[in-house]
Amino acid sequence: MLIRKITLFYFSFLVFLFSANAQHKALSKIDISDLKEYLSFIASDELQGRALGTDVDGLNIAANYLTDYAKETGLKPAFENYFQSVPISHTVQNNEAFIEVKNAKGKSLYRSEEVVKFDQNAGVFNLDKEPVVFIGFGNAVKSLDLKDKVVVVAQGSEETFSQGAFEWQNRLERQKINEIAEKQPKAMLLVTNPKDHGNKTFKQLQAWLNRPGYSVKKDNVPFQPAVLLATPDVADALLGKKGEYEKYLENIVSETAVFTEVNKTISLKIGTEPEILEGKNVVAYIEGSDPVLKDEYIVFMAHYDHLGVGKDGDVYNGADDNGSGTVAIMEVAEAFASLKEKPKRSIVFLWVTCEEKGHFGSSYYCDHPIFPLDKTVASINLDMVGRVYDGPRDDVWKDSPKKVKDFDGLYTLSNDVWPKLAEINANYCAELGLVPDTSLPKERFLRASDHYHFHKNGVPILNYATGYHADYHKVGDEVEKINFEKIKRVADLCFLVGFDLANKEDIEF
Ligand SMILES: [Zn+2]
Repeated sequence: MLIRKITLFYFSFLVFLFSANAQHKALSKIDISDLKEYLSFIASDELQGRALGTDVDGLNIAANYLTDYAKETGLKPAFENYFQSVPISHTVQNNEAFIEVKNAKGKSLYRSEEVVKFDQNAGVFNLDKEPVVFIGFGNAVKSLDLKDKVVVVAQGSEETFSQGAFEWQNRLERQKINEIAEKQPKAMLLVTNPKDHGNKTFKQLQAWLNRPGYSVKKDNVPFQPAVLLATPDVADALLGKKGEYEKYLENIVSETAVFTEVNKTISLKIGTEPEILEGKNVVAYIEGSDPVLKDEYIVFMAHYDHLGVGKDGDVYNGADDNGSGTVAIMEVAEAFASLKEKPKRSIVFLWVTCEEKGHFGSSYYCDHPIFPLDKTVASINLDMVGRVYDGPRDDVWKDSPKKVKDFDGLYTLSNDVWPKLAEINANYCAELGLVPDTSLPKERFLRASDHYHFHKNGVPILNYATGYHADYHKVGDEVEKINFEKIKRVADLCFLVGFDLANKEDIEF
């Protein structure tokens, strides 16, 4: 009996040694000179800051580089050519937009180009001689019939108007817009405050709203009314003459008469058909060795895009954001690929596109996952893992809860879907001499990068980051400032955590 026990122990010790040795060998594949070589290309001027719409399609060059790498490394393609195509609609400012006020006979009384669409992606609107209703500051929306009308609503509230304040309060206006939209009008005109002389607020918002708009193309979008920002001139024209709109608002404040129909109509044209662009997620995987567990997945993710080229021609190379995560995962993939005996579960390598434009790649992947999300044991996202605190240069971020860490520190963010994951992570951090900082406020940072879309779908997540520095989203985010030893430590951690998760017998969450 004792001999059996000893033999068993000896045997399992051998297995342990064997697997520890295999891990050790695999870790040696994560190589600093490789990381340097890959990042020097990914974050070079040649790739034009890896964004949609640059003269040279650097984003696509990066995607091709990653797929070539996946092929060479022997990773399996999850899609043909490793590409998951992400349809992105791109809209630009419409120079022919106008708004026109007509009288009952259809005669034009006022016409202006000073109108902007709130949501650049909301399509094309072409309305003629539509009935108009004024609803004050929009307090009584719930009781009003606004169907198929053009609704004129004032910016701000009675309170801010009487105080003479006209700062834009985004939350207030958004709430108003949503409430009115539920009543299915054809359009709503959010009119800026008549006391805002020179239309400062309008002009500021106009510059912001007229930037090129990108969004993931959605099919079967339900009808949305046009939401437009307009100057008080339009409202004056509808009410009869200059200054009437201010008087109207003053009346509302004193008498709370809010629902006013006018005997004039609105015609308008705004919006252009979007151009459909193709973004690409690069998705590769290593199939698990266990006949059952291979249908469960560990996903390593990093966004490979960045900010592109500035107006002045400066290239934003994004070496840390997120060239660092991109190349770290390349090396993690190589380490897993080098294992003679593959882990039990499958390992997915997901390089996502257009994070900087609004997490397009990751949100699209989670809406169209090729590996089921309910079989995804964990998603490990790397976003900026290449910098180490090196003195006062980083002090601009001194008030951030996520300021750049020293050589041993690492932000590790997890959600609460499977608390054991944070524990596993902490153990491997300790093994590598890394000090995990789990103090980032979850309500803010769970939303801050691609892991959000996995989190939203109930997948346990880990996010690694070395923190914000003075070059964050600046042209100074260059390869020379990267600490490659640090990237290797993070990649080593990824491998060890991934290896453990992929081989664990029973995972329940
Ligand atoms: Zn990033």
